[in-house]
Amino acid sequence: MRAWEREAPDINTDQLHKSEKNAVGMGLVALNELFGRWGEPAYRSIQVFEGIYKHRWSNWQQFSNLSKELRDKLATELIIEWPLLDCSLLSSDGASKHTVRLIDGKHVECVYIPYDGRATMCISSQVGCAMGCAFCATGSMGIVRNLLAAEIVGQVLAMAKYHRHPKDLPLNIVLMGMGEPLHNLKQVMDAFAILNHPKGMAIPPRRVTISTSGLVPGIIKLGEYSPRPRLALSLNATTDIARTKIMPVNSVWGLDQLSRALKSFPLHADEQITLEYVVIKGISDSMEDARRISDFANQFPSKINLIPYNQLQMSEYLPPTETLLNEMGSYLADRGHVVSIRRSRGQDIGGACGQLVIAK
Ligand code: SAH
Ligand code: SF4
Repeated sequence: MRAWEREAPDINTDQLHKSEKNAVGMGLVALNELFGRWGEPAYRSIQVFEGIYKHRWSNWQQFSNLSKELRDKLATELIIEWPLLDCSLLSSDGASKHTVRLIDGKHVECVYIPYDGRATMCISSQVGCAMGCAFCATGSMGIVRNLLAAEIVGQVLAMAKYHRHPKDLPLNIVLMGMGEPLHNLKQVMDAFAILNHPKGMAIPPRRVTISTSGLVPGIIKLGEYSPRPRLALSLNATTDIARTKIMPVNSVWGLDQLSRALKSFPLHADEQITLEYVVIKGISDSMEDARRISDFANQFPSKINLIPYNQLQMSEYLPPTETLLNEMGSYLADRGHVVSIRRSRGQDIGGACGQLVIAK
């Protein structure tokens, strides 16, 4: 059985302080349950939910809309603990990569990318990744564990605070950091519910994107949620032989099954599936590939991102030439596709696509 066909391990709960429950990561259901037990009215849950996720308060004494008595009671039962940003590196292009220390001492990375009065946060869903893609630094780590919803939301809160991201400034969230989000769908969707809730961070669903290597059962399951984030597929190769070589997941769910799952994915009227395509010299950079990308993309509403391969240390792969990359882009544009060449930000700090890796 392949690593991704098993559930990824969860956090070892012995390492969580049992006596201390963290309010960060609790959704309205859990808060309702707590206040119900205490005989408090249900609107208290909304007040606490808003305080944590909307106002980003990190101390119970800041909850001035609650009585002193209730604040003290909350402080004895629940901590408010955000993940710690251990190390933050600023790239010359304005992007920042942060290393987040988790409660069990493990680490993940996340990236803040400001542009034109907006920002995109690239966040992680797992420590490591089970999918083993040959071109990806995270893949070389193997899977360590799933992140909790609290740890996924925590990356957003911690970066918003660090960068003083104004509450009214549009924020895009992409689950394109470490891990395969569809291999940890439950926690990812719990986190999404908090990020999206109008009383929480109120991030619209269309501003959240889950990127997958092609876990077909996960794609189908994601389509059953409403609201849900947008979907991106890391296509990366255009024949089963080539794709299986660089993405082992393709040996289980090949291109046919993938396109069937994408064709039946229930899209909204204005929605498209993003196809990400890492262009690697001599592997995935031919005009034949461009033609097959176009054929694949024509099967459902889509847009295409061509990503020049970011070279990793000790890797056999090389980035494509600028000429070939641009030719592929022009060909796809001429065939009527919405296409962009996405030059990764944060390359000088190891924060670009596929560069996120942490020694275990
Ligand atoms: N596991 C998910 C999301 C995280 S990877 C997925 O694979 O979709 C985010 C993106 O970075 C993917 O599209 C992946 O194909 C791309 N990527 C991985 N390694 C890369 C590299 N070395 N250079 C450029 N892009 C890379
Ligand atoms: Fe995992 Fe995505 Fe990297 Fe593949 S590209 S190893 S799925 S993080």
